[in-house]
Amino acid sequence: MLFEKVASYYEKLESVSSRLAMIDIMTDMLKESEKDEIKNLIYMTQGVLAPAFEGVQIGMADKLAEESIALSTGKTKEQVNALFRKTGDLGIAAEECAKETKLRKISGKKLAINDVFEALHKIATTSGSGSKDMKIKMLAGLLSNSAPLECRYIVRFAMGQLRLGAGDATILEALSKMSTGERTAKEKLENAYNICSDLGEVGETAKKKGMEGIENFKVTLFKPIRPALAERLPTAAEILEKMHGKCAVESKYDGLRAQIHIDKKNKRVEIFSRRLENITEMFPEIVKAALSEVSCESAILEGEAISYDEDTGQFSPFQETIQRKRKHGVKEMSEEMPLHVFAFDLMYINGEDYMKKPYRERRDMLEKVVKGNGTIRFSDRIIVTKPSEMEKYFEDRIANGLEGIVAKDLNAYYIAGARKFSWIKMKRSYKGELSDTIDVVIVGYYRGRGSRAEFGFGGLLAAVYNDRTDMFETITKIGTGFTDDMMKEFKKTLDKIKSAKKPVRVNALVEPDFWVEPKYVVTVKADEITKSPMHTAGMHNENGIETGYALRFPRIVGGGMRQDKSADEATTTKEIIEMFEQQRKTKLSEAA
Ligand code: AMP
Repeated sequence: MLFEKVASYYEKLESVSSRLAMIDIMTDMLKESEKDEIKNLIYMTQGVLAPAFEGVQIGMADKLAEESIALSTGKTKEQVNALFRKTGDLGIAAEECAKETKLRKISGKKLAINDVFEALHKIATTSGSGSKDMKIKMLAGLLSNSAPLECRYIVRFAMGQLRLGAGDATILEALSKMSTGERTAKEKLENAYNICSDLGEVGETAKKKGMEGIENFKVTLFKPIRPALAERLPTAAEILEKMHGKCAVESKYDGLRAQIHIDKKNKRVEIFSRRLENITEMFPEIVKAALSEVSCESAILEGEAISYDEDTGQFSPFQETIQRKRKHGVKEMSEEMPLHVFAFDLMYINGEDYMKKPYRERRDMLEKVVKGNGTIRFSDRIIVTKPSEMEKYFEDRIANGLEGIVAKDLNAYYIAGARKFSWIKMKRSYKGELSDTIDVVIVGYYRGRGSRAEFGFGGLLAAVYNDRTDMFETITKIGTGFTDDMMKEFKKTLDKIKSAKKPVRVNALVEPDFWVEPKYVVTVKADEITKSPMHTAGMHNENGIETGYALRFPRIVGGGMRQDKSADEATTTKEIIEMFEQQRKTKLSEAA
């Protein structure tokens, strides 16, 4: 497939205003790709060069891309920069320059998608001294062999700003239509995705082996499984009812989730975070323990890594454990503040996929193959049949400085990538305050007025993710809690992803001064979830009035944008509705 064709599909994708139209265009595009191209085409459309867990990033700086454009079109850097300032989009600037200089097709051979992808991959992975100049030259070389429209997307991609607005769910639906002509195979494709976290690989399997290949998709060592997530319920009685009267209850540790892949024969261990980043290098003590404290040949197990004082039995607060998530001073920190892993699940062992085994069997096997008294321990747990037993355990955990409990269905499979009632968490809730923070996606921002005029930034419009419709629904404006530095940073970052019109996957009634592509996530704390006709989160008809959910007194926590979360990983509309219900019940019980 020629990249020229891909670029024309991208242009179409940019021009549509409905998600369904987007899926149709993407379906046509995926159909047109060859078996050995679809993987790269999917990555490229996602704006990446590899699945997230491989950590290959491109993100060239403006200045370097400007130099490449100048070099390939014969313009001066100043001319390119002027055009960039005028259009606000270096991709468009590159396209305009290429059109004017008519340098297209020097070699005469049109580039295919794989040529472009490989060239971009090379640019991203070039490092060391002199690499800056090499990157500029390599990008210039690629541009000079490309038509103006191709230049638009190559430059945006190279800067990490492709912004086609296609989320995982959109791509999965298009793959479903490509494979079966219907959108209904999405769930099966999603299951495969949840097992390997690699959309490119799912697409390639669908193309090469059809739906049969997708249905037979198996866990592979060193490809992270998308983690199972917990639902919430406010009371022990409700949890037990959901669990049919009997369940396991585990301590909920407030640390870092670690998915540990172990191949003892080859002495290889990889650790993935909840967001599937590869964090192996940061935790040498866990790598060592995985090789010495686990007795089977190979395994994938999961646990919570947390700093813990063996003498006093005290768990450190999250803020301390998180300090271990760093790339420098790793050795010193691992000696100063070693972590323990409280293992709670086992998904694979000695070549066998264990995800379809009931939890009780997975746990039994986990306890058989891990020593359990070294760096890797087992999560504390009891089996309960009465709400009072669960409540007592919960209170006891809180008194021990833990976050709460996670109840687990004894007979459930490991349900990758989904929030299901096979795991239910219960955390302490504080009076009058939401106990959980909420991860919202920025969809727009406001111009600064009054004292903020100098920053050009006055606040954010934020949304939650509706995973059923794959849309972002607004839930709040955020106007307070910004430091001067944060305002500068937000404005600078968001200006790069400004959108001339409301992005296709945003559902909003309020209009910010500037729309931005749903890309960045911020964590907020709020006093309360309220109902509001202004916001589209969970909008439904209530006594003849269209009402959605909103946040009261939202404030940003954690200092700014989250680098570890993508927009599709924000809090979902469904969770907001559940939190609202939980809040209502807590209020009722407090009033009683
Ligand atoms: P939350 O992040 O509040 O949705 O809660 C789910 C998280 O709790 C998981 O992602 C784990 O990182 C963490 N966790 C701590 N202890 C356990 C446990 N015993 N079982 C499952 N998850 C746990």
